[in-house]
Amino acid sequence: MSKVFFASARVEKWRYEDSMPGKLERLLREVPLSAHFGADEWVAVKTHFGSYGAHRIVRPVFLRKVVESLITLNAKPFVTDTVRIKGLDYLEVANTNGINHLSVGAPVVLADGLYGNDNIMVNAGEILGEIAVASVIYDVPAMVVCSHVKGHINAGYAGAIKNIAMGGISSSHRHCGWKCGRGAMHTIGEGKLVWDSEKCTLCLQCEDVCPLDCIDFEDDTFSYADERCWRCGRCTRVCPDGGLTLPGDDKLFMKSLAEASKAVLGTFKPGKVIYINFITEVQPECDCMPAAEVPVIQDLGILVSDDIVAIEQASVDMLMKAKPLPASVAESAQIKEGDDILLKLHDKPYTLQIEEAERLGLGSRKYELVELK
Ligand code: SF4
Ligand code: SF4
Repeated sequence: MSKVFFASARVEKWRYEDSMPGKLERLLREVPLSAHFGADEWVAVKTHFGSYGAHRIVRPVFLRKVVESLITLNAKPFVTDTVRIKGLDYLEVANTNGINHLSVGAPVVLADGLYGNDNIMVNAGEILGEIAVASVIYDVPAMVVCSHVKGHINAGYAGAIKNIAMGGISSSHRHCGWKCGRGAMHTIGEGKLVWDSEKCTLCLQCEDVCPLDCIDFEDDTFSYADERCWRCGRCTRVCPDGGLTLPGDDKLFMKSLAEASKAVLGTFKPGKVIYINFITEVQPECDCMPAAEVPVIQDLGILVSDDIVAIEQASVDMLMKAKPLPASVAESAQIKEGDDILLKLHDKPYTLQIEEAERLGLGSRKYELVELK
């Protein structure tokens, strides 16, 4: 049975060892990091840089603790993420959110290049076929996956699986475009954007949020550059009136996240990836959105494991027991204690991600929770 190490966000003693950064250091000694990484080994610290306005990411102080812990082993860490908007702009997002070489203590690099098309095609499985794994993640021998646990309009729940499925795959491939990138997960088949002129209020939020300037409203009529569009779905997520949709299949989407995770993890030797889930500032939406909502539950803590399925199951089990916070969207949605908060918020079969990952052999949903004293 896989072990999942856990440190509570509650502080019982006013000393550094009981702070969240101090507890993270102690968790990394428990795992221990030295069993997975060695001297001179390059280690990717995979995180999500967030976006302008979505500040509730894994905080730089925690990334720094991971980096410092790796440096004590004489490993060579760097912090990375794949391109979500234009690459130079995305590096500026990282910097704005406090992630830079000075703050985290290691280089901050884009995993799939400034143009987001440095990637290697890898066989994923029956749903996705071949998919474009970011070249840096493909080549690096070891990785620490730092995931901010939160909700997600498409995935329902977003943790480690979502972080490496979406975040280890490029938006686009230089020859086969979005169909080999994360757009293949966001939609099924040709996946064209559908505009409903009856519902659209011409607020233009979709046009504003498109990272590729694909959308146009000439004569108050929607059009988009179909060939250029990544099928990232950002435009549909910000639409307040259901005027824009990207048809997909929820169950296939969840399973495809597990498939993409397998493709990414298949580029590593066994034991060379560990996972850190931060159940902190659990907001209802993805860190790529233009804003971050207030958390729907109180901070719970940090989990660390070398089993992606176990850590995801443990995270979801904790979320299930958490109380909805007042003055959050959970209260607006009249979610009660004991409800599955993320299911109520997004109505997505999110546990399928974890079940499918187990079926694909990525780990076990049975785990032993080891709490830091
Ligand atoms: S899905 Fe929407 S936001 Fe994303 S690239 Fe296409 S038009 Fe732009
Ligand atoms: S975000 Fe929705 S409502 Fe606003 S312009 Fe776009 S399609 Fe219309």
